[in-house]
Amino acid sequence: MNIRDVEGFVIDLDGTVYKGNQAIDGVVQTIAYVRSIGKRIVFLSNRGNISRAMCHDNLKRMGLDVHEEEIILSSTVAAAYIKRHYEEAEVWVLGDEGLRDELRVTGVRLASNPESADWLLITLHETLTYRDLNEAFRAVRHGARIMATNEDRMFPSENGLSIDVAGMIGAITSATGQEVELVIGKPSAIMAEAALSKLSLPPEQVLMIGDSVESDIRLGKRAGMKTALVLTGAWTREEAEASPVEPDWIWDSLAELQLLMAKQHEEDGTKHDTTVEQNSTKYYGP
Ligand SMILES: [Mg+2]
Repeated sequence: MNIRDVEGFVIDLDGTVYKGNQAIDGVVQTIAYVRSIGKRIVFLSNRGNISRAMCHDNLKRMGLDVHEEEIILSSTVAAAYIKRHYEEAEVWVLGDEGLRDELRVTGVRLASNPESADWLLITLHETLTYRDLNEAFRAVRHGARIMATNEDRMFPSENGLSIDVAGMIGAITSATGQEVELVIGKPSAIMAEAALSKLSLPPEQVLMIGDSVESDIRLGKRAGMKTALVLTGAWTREEAEASPVEPDWIWDSLAELQLLMAKQHEEDGTKHDTTVEQNSTKYYGP
């Protein structure tokens, strides 16, 4: 596998591009470099509690040159999925306001009360109260099916790891006895398709880069993309090497992409290309 054959990049955000409120070292330059040589990029995140507009503002504040249309969040994909498959459905949200914004922008109908909802859509809720949980509980008791933007268990925050959507899902499923019918987020094929269709590229020309073997690398492998794990977030090298799901590359950070591409460029410039094309793409999928 050669990096020069990659035409498009699907890049995770949390733990890959930034941590907390700060861009990871070298990422701003790497993204600028990838753009400068005409490659396509989308940013693919499991964050479901914010809208694209909010995410775009955050990235801009960190100094990242990103267009709003290049951002795909699980809130974005959940909204598009509901609009496409359940156009008439009324949705009740257990989660932050950003998800409601994304649903509204997409034209999804929000239920005016829990009892009338066809779907309960769960995402991270950082100001969760008993009342919020109880309304979601009532929605399901009155027949709403359960969908979640993602089912991540924890995310890195300023104070270490914090509880994620799985905690909200657990409260509702254990109280109602009902199961989640659909999870939108990575590693789902729904997210992979959203990214590939945005790039308009076949999966074999695409590299998925992320900090989680569980969500990013698994998604890439399942969809037939090349994969690179970065060690700036959730996974360590030891954990990655012990995992049966093996990425094509393991990098200390996204900045290694720029080094690798620049090196490739240099080698391509020499008369005799000594690069050995090795088929290192082994499939260790589920
Ligand atoms: Mg991540």
